[in-house]
Amino acid sequence: MTVLVVAEIARGALAPATRDALSVAAALSPEGTVGVAVGTGARSAAEALARYGVGRVWVADDDRFDSAPVAATAHAVAQAATAAGADTILVGGTAFGRDLVARLSVRWDAAAATGVTEVRRDAGALLIRRPVFGGRAHETRKLVVPRCALAVRPHAFPAPVERPAPLAAETLDVAAVPARLFGPRRTAVEAAVTGQGPSLGDASIVVSGGRGLRSAEEFGIVEDLARALGGAVGASRAVTDAGWRPPSFQVGQTGRSVSPQLYLAIGI
Ligand SMILES: Cc1cc2nc3c(=O)[nH]c(=O)nc-3n(C[C@H](O)[C@H](O)[C@H](O)COP(=O)(O)OP(=O)(O)OC[C@H]3O[C@@H](n4cnc5c(N)ncnc54)[C@H](O)[C@@H]3O)c2cc1C
Repeated sequence: MTVLVVAEIARGALAPATRDALSVAAALSPEGTVGVAVGTGARSAAEALARYGVGRVWVADDDRFDSAPVAATAHAVAQAATAAGADTILVGGTAFGRDLVARLSVRWDAAAATGVTEVRRDAGALLIRRPVFGGRAHETRKLVVPRCALAVRPHAFPAPVERPAPLAAETLDVAAVPARLFGPRRTAVEAAVTGQGPSLGDASIVVSGGRGLRSAEEFGIVEDLARALGGAVGASRAVTDAGWRPPSFQVGQTGRSVSPQLYLAIGI
């Protein structure tokens, strides 16, 4: 079994969510894991993968991927997976990771799953578990297919163990990625109003407030506590509907999915 871990790069470094993918890969295929990193900072992301024992990494340090749609990255990742002879692709379950596996299901002809909280081998197939129906149930699925692409849920797995390996970087031939995929470029990003501290999706501590806080001003105690704990601020829909905080704070079925190790709900 050969597993390809996709390094997500955030601000030029390995995104924390990639460590969840590394942890799953180490359990599934300790000796058969390879990596891929594309975009600005790909080389340093590859070095970070090597610290976790993934020494063979396909690299495309090309800034065109930074502003291109995920379709361009999916093409490059599929190319690396084919070159590596991989049967499974793992990526952290961020917005990027979820978008990527959906595209890989078509581009690489793979079974795709997101929000994965358990993965194990079962008689030549992969058995995965994940929450469904907004977390009201868990489904187990057996992937009896030659290729799988999985986005693993942040914080659902133990931290990967560092076991440095020498980096054997392979240059990815980006000329094979069709130029049209780089066409729709992102030219600007304006930050929405969000809480201070870590982003809700990545945070290992989330402090959320609800209608029980009674006013926009009183909601400030939630923010004070989150700041003191180094956590992210969330809110119920009652709070965002009332306009106490913007919709970007909302946690839940029609808001953000969170998977912290500690969730404090105040007045919810
Ligand atoms: C299709 C659909 C999608 C939805 N999606 C979402 C979603 O994504 N996210 C979401 O949050 N909601 C969502 N909702 C709304 C959800 O069903 C609830 O109505 C909402 O979450 C209630 O918010 P709340 O708990 O803050 O308010 P309330 O239900 O009013 O609860 C307030 C709580 O505060 C407690 N309280 C009051 N005073 C105090 C005090 N002094 N100290 C401590 N506790 C106190 C009360 O006992 C109560 O438990 C959705 C609803 C629908 C129909």
